[in-house]
Amino acid sequence: MTPFTFTKTNSQREAVTLGRRPQTAFIAGGTTLLDLMKLNVQAPGHLVDINGLPLDKIETQADGSLRVGAMVRNSDLAHHPAAKERFPVLAEALLSGASPQLRNMATTGGNLMQRTRCSYFRDPAYACNKRQAGSGCAAMEGYNRSHAVLGASDHCIATHPSDMAVALVALDAVVHIVGRKAERKVPVSEFHVLPGDTPSIETVVQQGELITHVTVPASAFAARSTYVKLRDRASYEFALASAAVGLEIQGNQIQSARLALGGVATKPWRSLEGERVLMGAAPHKETFRAAAEAALKGAAAHKHNGYKIELAKRAIVSALTLATQRQV
Ligand code: SF4
Repeated sequence: MTPFTFTKTNSQREAVTLGRRPQTAFIAGGTTLLDLMKLNVQAPGHLVDINGLPLDKIETQADGSLRVGAMVRNSDLAHHPAAKERFPVLAEALLSGASPQLRNMATTGGNLMQRTRCSYFRDPAYACNKRQAGSGCAAMEGYNRSHAVLGASDHCIATHPSDMAVALVALDAVVHIVGRKAERKVPVSEFHVLPGDTPSIETVVQQGELITHVTVPASAFAARSTYVKLRDRASYEFALASAAVGLEIQGNQIQSARLALGGVATKPWRSLEGERVLMGAAPHKETFRAAAEAALKGAAAHKHNGYKIELAKRAIVSALTLATQRQV
């Protein structure tokens, strides 16, 4: 492992100042970063420990939105009454991720910032444009069963690994970020960026910027929301395909809908095409299948991951069916 300095801070201002130094990384739960440092995939010169920052609260605000501090642990958010009762898709997505031990350590901010699980990215013996720009992409002609069918480029086809972020996209959540000068707000749907020809750039966060909290707005579709995750084993496994959905239904008509996908795209993937099919339609299986077809219309497979297209469609139909059955 490459030597690095280590600084603990309880001050947000100091964290932002320290974070502006080149080669500096913030460390919170460490559930991604420590692995990558041990693998020599990431080698920051400076680590700033932000576990002491007062960003560990979950609060319901006057407008009904939920404010989740960046240091809130995934397990605390998953079991919080507001998440379970008002935003079930969020609680379900969190509980489907990783293991109880990892959820006890992983934070809200860190979950958003986690890196891909592409096995070629995690092994410096292989070419990887995300790890080393211009080196190539071993996954293109390699074993790409777990890779993306949506949002890929000629330079990278890695999936984004988060479940929580997929639920937050479906819930129209917003990330709050501070830099040295000002705070800015970024919808979670715009927080992660497509790989394009610069796969090493994964989010809109700039060097030294710090996520302070996430807000999840109150919405009519959140109560009837759910998360379906399909994977190789029942726990401690990343999604091959997942769907986060929310439905507002009046009578026999869908008034509003949200549809986001995980495990199949290079970023947490909102499907406006699928939502358009759902809006105003009757909530039955034919509608759901049509929405699934629309959501995967632009999908493109590589040698080993073509099965994901049908798998994702089935995840969507299953999630929408379960959402209609939820008692609200
Ligand atoms: Fe690297 Fe992306 Fe290719 Fe994986 S898919 S090897 S992360 S460039």
